[in-house]
Amino acid sequence: MAWDFETDPEFERELEWMRAFVRDEIYPLETLDLDWRSYRQVIRPLMERVKERGLWAAHLSPELGGQGFGQVKLALMHEILGGSELAPPVFGNQAPDSGNSELIAIAATEEQKRRWLDPLLDGTLYSAFSMTEQGTGSDPRQFTTSATRDGDAWVIEGTKWMVGNATRSDFHIVMARTDAPPDADPYRTMSLFIVPADAAGLSMREIGLLHDPHSEGLVHAHAECRYEAVRVPADHLLGGVGDAFMLAQKRLGPGRIHHAMRWVGVCRRAFDAMCERAVSKSVHGSLLSEKQTVQNWVADSAAAMEAARLLTLKAAWTIDQVGASGARTEIAMIKYFGATVMQDVLDRALQIHGSLGYSTDMPIEQMYRWARAARLYDGPDEVHRVTVARRILRTYEPHDVPTEHVPTRRAAALATASAA
Ligand SMILES: Cc1cc2nc3c(=O)[nH]c(=O)nc-3n(C[C@H](O)[C@H](O)[C@H](O)COP(=O)(O)OP(=O)(O)OC[C@H]3O[C@@H](n4cnc5c(N)ncnc54)[C@H](O)[C@@H]3O)c2cc1C
Repeated sequence: MAWDFETDPEFERELEWMRAFVRDEIYPLETLDLDWRSYRQVIRPLMERVKERGLWAAHLSPELGGQGFGQVKLALMHEILGGSELAPPVFGNQAPDSGNSELIAIAATEEQKRRWLDPLLDGTLYSAFSMTEQGTGSDPRQFTTSATRDGDAWVIEGTKWMVGNATRSDFHIVMARTDAPPDADPYRTMSLFIVPADAAGLSMREIGLLHDPHSEGLVHAHAECRYEAVRVPADHLLGGVGDAFMLAQKRLGPGRIHHAMRWVGVCRRAFDAMCERAVSKSVHGSLLSEKQTVQNWVADSAAAMEAARLLTLKAAWTIDQVGASGARTEIAMIKYFGATVMQDVLDRALQIHGSLGYSTDMPIEQMYRWARAARLYDGPDEVHRVTVARRILRTYEPHDVPTEHVPTRRAAALATASAA
């Protein structure tokens, strides 16, 4: 298949605008003493400028106010936004709201869209995606949170874990087990519900994390969410009964492209800092850039970043050509490959700065702590490696004698030659 993801010059102009806007208007916010409430105030006028430019919530289709860009353009955009974790909310495409809006757009009734999607897209409501239960995130078939029909309501019982944005959102999309016959496909036993964050019986405990031990992060906080006989009206079911995995899968494919390109953006910023330091700092009689170890770091980082970038763009391009199901191998690959590249590049960028890099006087320590989560969220790397290996191995046939066995091939070649 031909392979082409050239950027058209018109979109390159938009990318140029985004680069300057993110660098000049958003990076400076990182240095201010904002909490998440004041941050959301401060970004209001910036959000307006993004809307005026026609770049707001660009992940959505044109009917929903997005641009219908397709995944390659979105990927290039996310590469720029990845430079700062404060950038995606300014563009209306921060996780989990971006994925949730896609999910609601796909699965919701007209009434649900009016009530939840329109304000979500407008940036006046915030949302959470509540799927994981502690110790079972890698194998969702083990989830036990249940939703039971009771008259014209659903009653939800259970505990969700590590829910991003939970305490700051207006509603959660929750995955819960619904009635299914004992022999049902395990992937048809869960359903999705929209639960208002102030529903009676829903309580939350914020969790301290490696990158945010005191739950003070400007963009996300993560929480454990307890559902004790939480009642939601019947019309809060999102999609059909049993549709949860199918819908969640639709949400996750493009979302992983955006994550992976944001990681490339993180790498780029750290890499620039590393190279700048290398050509600026002398030790033991020469610049760091003249030490072979540092040259190895620069060369290895550049190659790995290029590989991660091209692999991600290829996954994006394949989605645009044939849909997410045709890009499953690439989507799984970029998850673990991109996360590992990011961790390696950040580690080198921190190391070259010495204790300055370890300090909060540089942004690298914060990026480094946050980067570690990438090997876990959206499913741990190991699960994605299993997916890739299975899909590749499925294309091979068993052979008692290896196809490459030289004596066997020689015998075959001689037989062909003597027959000629
Ligand atoms: C920062 C962050 C944000 C998150 N945000 C959300 C959110 O908003 N909503 C939400 O629902 N969830 C969220 N999660 C949860 C995330 O999706 C889960 O952490 C992830 O799916 C792994 O599940 P687990 O933590 O329960 O690990 P477990 O399932 O307990 O797995 C533990 C370890 O077992 C190993 N393992 C698992 N399966 C295999 C295998 N097949 N082969 C080999 N080894 C394996 C891996 O090393 C894995 O790390 C978030 C997590 C983090 C870290």
